[in-house]
Amino acid sequence: MKITAIQTHVCHARMRNWIFVKVLTDQPGLYGWGEATLEWHTRGVVGTIEDLAPLLIGEDPTCVEHLWQMMWRQHFWHGSGVTRSTAISGIDLALWDIVGKAYGVPCHKLWGGSVRDSIRLYCHLGGGDLESFYETPVDHAKQFADLAQEAVEDGFTAFKSMAVPPTMPIEGLGPIKAADACVAAMREAVGADIDIMVDCHARPSPAMGMQFAKTLDQYGLYFFEEPCWPESVEGLAAINAAIATPVAAGERLTHLAAFRDLFVARGCEICQLDLTHCGGFTEARRIAALADAYRIALAPHNPQGPVSTAASLEFGFSQPSYIICESVHNDVPWRDDIVDEGFTVDKKTRTVSANTRPGLGISINEDEVKKHPFEQEIAQRVFYRDGSVGDW
Ligand SMILES: [Mg+2]
Repeated sequence: MKITAIQTHVCHARMRNWIFVKVLTDQPGLYGWGEATLEWHTRGVVGTIEDLAPLLIGEDPTCVEHLWQMMWRQHFWHGSGVTRSTAISGIDLALWDIVGKAYGVPCHKLWGGSVRDSIRLYCHLGGGDLESFYETPVDHAKQFADLAQEAVEDGFTAFKSMAVPPTMPIEGLGPIKAADACVAAMREAVGADIDIMVDCHARPSPAMGMQFAKTLDQYGLYFFEEPCWPESVEGLAAINAAIATPVAAGERLTHLAAFRDLFVARGCEICQLDLTHCGGFTEARRIAALADAYRIALAPHNPQGPVSTAASLEFGFSQPSYIICESVHNDVPWRDDIVDEGFTVDKKTRTVSANTRPGLGISINEDEVKKHPFEQEIAQRVFYRDGSVGDW
């Protein structure tokens, strides 16, 4: 079997352009789907996939590790920059989809079979709707509580909120009190049996992250995400050591050695590797093995498109330390028109039963994708009150 072409199919999904990667083979009807979505870098990723394709055309798609090594190490520059690592990831996922289809089994069966009966989903407040999740002001605690209640009414037993506002490197009590009021309101609304997560989006400095972390520790959050920049591994480690709430991080790391540095420093208790950025399943399985050595749990980052979700679930059914799947169901109303999925979601409990179809178990409707051609992503830019640049 030989690879004959690698295509990208871009689908504008409001906040993001989903980049679907299709790897075709010389066997009629046998191809694989991957995803390489990278917000605000769509043209860069599409071009990078074009640059990588000549390495792979004519090669056997079932030799995934060998092809991964080519993509990561050849062309002189290693694949650790996020644009190239995302391109590699999209192709790698598609290659594993082909392997599953070639052998007639779901991907998780290739890696030892299912390790659990079901996977729990968590949602973003508003289900991934841009305004609800990213633009609910932190001084509107009641709105956070209402959205939290909605998530529970939708069947979710866990949800994530952006209850920590952008802050300058040092600020006073105002933003801390606002975040405190938001989380208090959500906890009051949903009770102790629902798991609440707070994502800081790596906005705070280590000093501000520490203050938010200590203040919110009393609410028993399921996890506290990216409390400072990913480059500040010592900041993450200090915060993780200072609170009982587990710190989650890793969505912006793109290769095994970066995860090693995070784990050695004990910068997190939950590793949020992103299968569409960290090197696909091939590198993710190495990262997971390393995480196991530290007893660090896995909860992959997954706010992107439907191939990424199918990939997270295939990974989750094969990984003992996988705890929960991030999910988005309300980002665009036509999400279900784009994809036919092999897994099933029980909407009462928001738990997933494993896919039984080969590979990732999905098919993408290319005619529906064509209805949503590339558009420039909506800018999300933060400036502090003095005009200086902040983190979104
Ligand atoms: Mg995040």
